[in-house]
Amino acid sequence: MRSLIWFRNDLRITDNTALYHACARSDQGVIAVFHVSPKQWQSHDWGPNKVDFVLRCLAVLKESLEVRGIPLKIIQGDRFSDVPAALLKLAKAVQCGALFFNREYEVNEAKRDADVTDAFENAGLAVHAYHDQTVIPPADIHTANGDIYTVFSPFKRKWIDTLKQRQPLELRPTPKKQAPAKVKSDDVPTDVKHYRSFSDAVRDHWPAGETEAKRRLTRFINAGLDNYKKQRDLPALHGTSSLSPYLACGAISARQCLLAAMEANNGRLDSGKQGPLTWISELIWREFYRHVMVGFPRVCRYQPFKENTTALKWNDDDALFERWCEGKTGVPIVDAAQRQLVQTGWMHNRLRMISAMYLTKDLFIDWRRGESFFMQHLVDGDLASNNGGWQWSASTGTDAAPYFRIFNPYTQSERFDPDGAFIRQFCPELKDVDDGDIHDPTTWPPLMQQALDYPEPVVNHKQARLRAIAAFKALG
Ligand SMILES: Cc1cc2nc3c(=O)[nH]c(=O)nc-3n(C[C@H](O)[C@H](O)[C@H](O)COP(=O)(O)OP(=O)(O)OC[C@H]3O[C@@H](n4cnc5c(N)ncnc54)[C@H](O)[C@@H]3O)c2cc1C
Repeated sequence: MRSLIWFRNDLRITDNTALYHACARSDQGVIAVFHVSPKQWQSHDWGPNKVDFVLRCLAVLKESLEVRGIPLKIIQGDRFSDVPAALLKLAKAVQCGALFFNREYEVNEAKRDADVTDAFENAGLAVHAYHDQTVIPPADIHTANGDIYTVFSPFKRKWIDTLKQRQPLELRPTPKKQAPAKVKSDDVPTDVKHYRSFSDAVRDHWPAGETEAKRRLTRFINAGLDNYKKQRDLPALHGTSSLSPYLACGAISARQCLLAAMEANNGRLDSGKQGPLTWISELIWREFYRHVMVGFPRVCRYQPFKENTTALKWNDDDALFERWCEGKTGVPIVDAAQRQLVQTGWMHNRLRMISAMYLTKDLFIDWRRGESFFMQHLVDGDLASNNGGWQWSASTGTDAAPYFRIFNPYTQSERFDPDGAFIRQFCPELKDVDDGDIHDPTTWPPLMQQALDYPEPVVNHKQARLRAIAAFKALG
């Protein structure tokens, strides 16, 4: 039999469940396909950084597949609704009797996959779908009562217990050379409709492909993991793995990351060294947010997890929102964070929390506007993690920050960027300000404020904090 393997956010040949099975079960060759869906991507707020990264990873994947005798076909479409007919037409044209893919869990993606499955099965073709995106499939973990976990710590305990029962964790073997398919690969597009400008600076920050992802993982495990607990909150240091874009498009798998961390921790999952344990916990947060998304699909539909928070009357001041987007709020750590996002397509996790908390609590602007803005710029944009992070910060989500525990952006700045090195990197207009002054412009004498080309804070933090607390309290 000859099979079609449909790639989406699993752009790698190593440890790829669907690819492994497609190759193992096909004696007349395997053909790969990727559907370019720019209109749909746009409606999901995928920005040019993410689209460009995905296409670049796809080009690298194409080379790895060709070495194994697997040609890559590209279907240029628009929306997910185009996919069933287009994929079926290709399957028939290249004489494939079965379709293989790894599941995606977002609402529109899951519907697309169900429609494709129906179309293939109605045409008498087999469909094989696999769980691959997480270490443990999202729907596999429940409380003792069969409920969905909504709090991270008990989820993590259950996740670890479940994995221990399923160990040893193994990676899927990389496929060997396949029977020749006698089909020519298509060129991977370097630009697509609706996405005209890609940033060279972002490209330089994020070289594409699974070899680069493996290189980053090895570098981090050898040089960053032991200090991760101490350094992960300091944005001026490169204390985290910077693997999120690769995980988001599947250039590396969560299993590869987890296994590497466990190997560095003498095979242990929940005891041993603090660095690996803390990093493993972050990988479990990624799993948790997918689990929440599957359990509560409303979070994919712009709805808060805590339904009573729909009553909040957010501030719809467009000018304030613009100031936040541009990194001109007058709060140096927030502005440096926003500029890091726009310039590099990525933001450090501590800063994502500070900036999201600032938008939703200090400016009291709807978290959904921030969620979209992040998606439009992040190279690692990922619905489950982005939504989870935003709803955590806005206190509307599962296991979210309690609404009365509002970050003070100035003290966060002193704590996590003590000498202002990160602020200076992205706010060069503040490069000569003393370490003690750089965090909080409200303490600057008027002459100093006038001398610097830097805005005054757009809101007063203390008053803004009280406004946000009052609004949440009023929800009852
Ligand atoms: C408001 C907000 C928005 C976010 N949006 C995204 C997003 O769109 N895409 C995304 O991948 N992450 C998102 N995160 C989570 C986190 O900020 C990034 O995963 C992390 O900064 C990526 O850097 P790293 O790869 O160096 O992470 P590391 O610290 O090295 O962590 C390793 C991996 O674990 C996962 N991870 C780490 N922290 C978290 C977390 N809090 N939640 C979920 N997964 C986590 C990521 O896949 C990450 O690559 C968001 C967090 C917040 C607060």
